[in-house]
This record gives sequence, C-alpha cells and structure tokens, in this order.
Amino acid sequence: MFHSTDSYGVTADSECSRCDRLLDLNGYHVIRVEGDGSGHLIVEIESSRSSPGCPGCGVVTLSHGRREHRLVDCPCFGRPVELVWRKHTWKCMEDTCPVRLITEQDDNIAQPRGLLSTWAMWWAARQLRWENASVAGLARQLGTAWATVNTAIMGLLVGLDRDPSRFAGVEVLGVDEHLWHHMNPARRGPREFTGMVDLTRDKNGRTHARLLDLVPGRSGKAYSTWLQAHDPEFIKGVKIAALDPFRGYKNAIDDHLDDARAVLDAFHVTKLGYQALDQVRCRVQHTTLGHRGRKKDPLYKIRRVLVTGIERLSERQWERLIQGLEHGDPDSEVTIAWQCAGQLRDAYHNKNLNAGLRQALRLVRILPTCPIPEIARLGRTLKQWKQEYLAYWTTNRTTNGGTEAINNLIELHRRIARGFTNPHHYRLRMLLIGGAFNHPQLNYPHRK
Ligand SMILES: [Zn+2]
Repeated sequence: MFHSTDSYGVTADSECSRCDRLLDLNGYHVIRVEGDGSGHLIVEIESSRSSPGCPGCGVVTLSHGRREHRLVDCPCFGRPVELVWRKHTWKCMEDTCPVRLITEQDDNIAQPRGLLSTWAMWWAARQLRWENASVAGLARQLGTAWATVNTAIMGLLVGLDRDPSRFAGVEVLGVDEHLWHHMNPARRGPREFTGMVDLTRDKNGRTHARLLDLVPGRSGKAYSTWLQAHDPEFIKGVKIAALDPFRGYKNAIDDHLDDARAVLDAFHVTKLGYQALDQVRCRVQHTTLGHRGRKKDPLYKIRRVLVTGIERLSERQWERLIQGLEHGDPDSEVTIAWQCAGQLRDAYHNKNLNAGLRQALRLVRILPTCPIPEIARLGRTLKQWKQEYLAYWTTNRTTNGGTEAINNLIELHRRIARGFTNPHHYRLRMLLIGGAFNHPQLNYPHRK
C-alpha cells in the first residue's frame, strides 16, 4: 500500500520489501527513497526494534520518538547515497532512575557519531586494498569530502593495527628499507621506513608476501627496536630471517632472533657479483685507454651485454661480446670477472639444490684467491657471510623476493595517493595495501 508522494513512490509510513532486499539489512526497513536534485539518493531506514528494558533500572521504557543520524553510504547504481538512520529513542519512566534517554545503537549500521556507515567504511577499505583506489576517488564516488573519507578510514585502520593476530604463525621474516619522501626531514619526519615482511610458505611451498609492519627509520637499529618490542612467542616462532647483505640487520638478527637461520638474499648477492664485474670493466677501460668509457670504446659498447644472462643473449649479442672482449680486455680480467659473476648467478639457478650448494661452496673457496682484486674482495664478502650465503640452499631457497614485491606495491600506491604528508597515515595505508590486516570484511564477498 504505497501513497505516492514523489517520483519514487514511497512515503514515510510504508515499508517496501523490494527496497529492503536492495538494502539487505536484517531487522531494518527502508521507509523513504528520494532524489535530492543533485544526483544523490537519500535513503531513510528504521529498525523494527521494540522498547528495551532500561539499562539503569530494568523497567520497561517508552518510545520517545526518533533522532536522525545522517551517514554517507556506499554508492547505489552509481549514485552517491545519503543514509538517514532514524534511530529510536526511549525514555525511562522511573522517576528515581538516573537514565533519562536511551538512543538506539548498532555498530552494524554505524559507530556513534560516525560520518560513514559501517559498510561504506569497509567498502572504502576494500577499494583501497584491492582496486588501486585513492581517497580522493572514493570521496568523489561517495559524494563527500576527502577529509570525511580519510578520517573514517584512519579510524578503521587504527583499530585493525591494534589487533596482534597478524604476527601469529610467522616462520620466515624478511626486512627491507625504502625511501618514502625526499623532503626536509625536519618538516616531514624521517625519510626512510623499514618494512618487516612475512615470507612464510603455505603448505604447497608458496610464499604470499605480507607486510607485517612499517617503522620509521632505517637500518639495524629500527629492526632491533622492532624485534625487542615483540613478545617471546613471536620471536621463538621465526625460524628463518632473510636479509640483504647489510651488517646492521645481521646484528639485529643475532641479538634478537638467535634461534633463526639468517639467509642472504639471492637477488642482492647476484647484484654484488655484477657490481664487481662493472668495477673491473671500468678499471680495465681506464688502464688500457686512459679515460672513462666513451661511446666507441670496445668495453663500453658491451657494458649492457656483460650483465645480461647467458641464456638470454642473442647471436648478435654473443658476437658483440666476443669482439668487445677481444679488443678491450688484453689480460682477460673482464672475461674472468664476467665468468665469476655468471657462476654466482648460476648457482642460484641450478635446479638441483645439492648441485647448487656445491657450486656455491666452490665459489666461497676460490673467489677470495682470485688475482683480480675486485673479485677477491667479492670472495672475501662471501666468505665472511658464508653461513648466510649457503643457507639459501639449505633452507630450500629462501629469498627476500617477496619483500621487493611489497616495495613495488608501496611505490605504486604512493603514486596513486600522489604522496603522503603524514607518516602515521602513510604507515597505516601501506599496512592495509601490503596485506597486514586479515579482517574478513577486507575480503570479498562483503556485507553481514
Ligand atoms: Zn531506568
């Protein structure tokens, strides 16, 4: 029985089962749907709750009319929605009772004095987490201000951050640092953040890298402080700690994760090999020709080919490589360095773990004795880190690669957000995007 009052045909005293189904909220009815003339939809809802007993004295209360709570809700059919929640209010009839007025509360609809409805907040959080959304874009879709959306999201994320359950079951821990801004640290805070990443494998042996935490500052000190702040249960659970060859992290691991195996990251070790090769190339270039690399110099011409994996070289590149070495490398120093860097890389690519380990052991033994100073230095570094270097093969290929993937994600989202000015917001947003929070509402399907 609808009494038509506007183009939507629903008046304030009627219920509509179709609208209720669209809203899909148990115990609530849509009592009015209206356009506001600017493209927004106004949806008014009310619960079918009956008078509760007074929380102060237990006496039955009397209805005392409604109080409107206006909320920003999820867009409906592409239009921004203002949800008008007509909250019941009740009055206690007992004269001596200190409770006067009771206002209906329901966290499923909204927090007291909330600006966004509860499901609009989760919707926005999922948009940020999975859909590469920006707060500015969400504000446009919700038909509200940036600050309104941001305040709501931050409130949600602060709550999620307090939940320690994300630290449970972490067996493989990665660490890395990144630069988050290039501004004056006195104005914007520290330039670097250190990220801790969960690299634990699932039962199929796959790693789903998950950002666990992000702390301002860099190096071993930030890592140490973070580890210190965690309970012994967490520390005891960490069996493997992946790291790039940086002393500070190693000290933090030795001091606080003494039960964990430290593993040097394959990517960084391979990079060290190619860095040594590049140093040899520059030195030989300079000794043979007396100047830094120029366009027509044989070694300069092959600087890129030298760092390309053998299996990816085309026939033409092979030719250029051989020619360049023939003309620019009289004492075969570059050739030997090239072979060493290649072997360092090959050991990681060996499909057989034991064979790879043997290759690696051989490199630790022979590289320090190499007459080429840059390669000998690389060999000494490997020898110094022998346990951590070999641990790659003895821990079934632990890599810090997931950490790099998280760093790429962070970089992408920094661009989407066009930068952050507040380190606190930055940290929480990156934790959301990096998968730190595992609340069921952050996954699809949503509602209820
Ligand atoms: Zn009472």
